[in-house]
Amino acid sequence: MLVALIIGIFFVVASISVYRTLLLRRPQKKLINSRETNFAIDNDAVTKLQKALKLETISDQEGLHDYTTFLHFHALLEEKFPLVHRILSREKFGKYSLLYKWPGSNGALKPMMLMSHFDVVPATKPSAWRYPPFGGVAADGYIWGRGALDVKGGIVAIMAALERLITEGWRPRRTIYIALGHDEESGGSKGNALIARALRDRGIRLHYVLDEGGLIINDFSKDIASPVALVGIAEKGYLTLALSVLGGGGHASAPPKNTATGILARALTRIEKKKFPLTLGAPIMALLAGLAPHLPFGKRLVIANAWLFAPVFKAFMARSDFMGAMLRTTVAPTMLQGSVKENVLPTQARALINVRVINGEQVASTITTIKAIINDERVLVERVGFAAEPSTISRTTSEGFLDLSTAIATVFPNAIIAPYPVFATTDSRYYEAISDDTYRFLPFAVDKSDLQGIHGIDERISQESLSLGVEFFVQLLKNGRA
Ligand SMILES: [Zn+2]
Repeated sequence: MLVALIIGIFFVVASISVYRTLLLRRPQKKLINSRETNFAIDNDAVTKLQKALKLETISDQEGLHDYTTFLHFHALLEEKFPLVHRILSREKFGKYSLLYKWPGSNGALKPMMLMSHFDVVPATKPSAWRYPPFGGVAADGYIWGRGALDVKGGIVAIMAALERLITEGWRPRRTIYIALGHDEESGGSKGNALIARALRDRGIRLHYVLDEGGLIINDFSKDIASPVALVGIAEKGYLTLALSVLGGGGHASAPPKNTATGILARALTRIEKKKFPLTLGAPIMALLAGLAPHLPFGKRLVIANAWLFAPVFKAFMARSDFMGAMLRTTVAPTMLQGSVKENVLPTQARALINVRVINGEQVASTITTIKAIINDERVLVERVGFAAEPSTISRTTSEGFLDLSTAIATVFPNAIIAPYPVFATTDSRYYEAISDDTYRFLPFAVDKSDLQGIHGIDERISQESLSLGVEFFVQLLKNGRA
């Protein structure tokens, strides 16, 4: 009887699983490759981005230092995009961040906002780059340099699209804001935070905000032949903690049993060993639902029945650092400090750990968990720098998401559009309280290997990508209900 019951349950579960899998059918339409669609390289945009990349608008750990370059960047925008500066109004916030406004003809429509930032992280090891990081070199079909993808490419694409629309005589029905931050890489508190506050004080409510945070990945997975357009609908929280251990100092020839460095090292090892739990939240499920129809039967079966396969499935996903980061709060030790001399014991050993908090968790509860994992009173845990709670989750059923998807489908007809949780932070979070939805997507098609260039070596954007990016913004503003 028991055996019959077990067999019965097995068949019921198996049938449901297969049924759910079949619901996620593969698309019938034969997909075409976007690389074959007709378009011309936008040489004008290429040249302008080259110029933009030559300006060293660097944001460092302490904040921004060479402010004159930021003014040069403003001047470059004025010179290269004269129509934008004639038709749109411009305000400065925190001296260097820019807010452009193109008033729409229909005041009843909520304004929309496009964002980008022009500060960049420093280029470590410039000699290791194929082309100089601030050389603005166009070669091999790419434009090379720090900021090409993060995000001067975005600025040039937006501005070039606006110039084109103005030239064509197009005028918006919905008011368009363009916010260009100057301190995103150091937290955005002097730029977009101020813009967001000003808009809030003016009683402005935004239709949606579109910022960086997602891209089109050409080679997303070997199971999927098409490029995947990742549209961020949520972003993780952000937090940095300083772990410090006091030591007595003294001569290194007669060390105590436990040195400050040793105690700190043990705390770091514990953090690295004891990972946060894996969770399948709403944004990751939205991503999987978007990808599932394009995956082979076996994988579709697992996704369609995540309720059944959750434990195995989560463990499988976490094998990739990239996917793992979408499934859990991550902790990364980044900076270390000990003694100032090789033969002197440290009076303090200190480490910074950078934490990305998954949607559904909170900064405070995460700190409590980390303290519990370290479980050592000699290690002082303190918050440093800025912190941000995880974002809310934006809708994939909104008019804004539909406009975005339509523009993606028009310019990249073979791309699969997949919502996803962004695991980096963006300045868009400052607008969350005054915007109906927040999306994080840059219309640039890249290979996975190109992602290493962001904050790394050999950052580049293909000339084709930049050109299609301009086309995307033209389509988004034109075809959308703007
Ligand atoms: Zn960025």
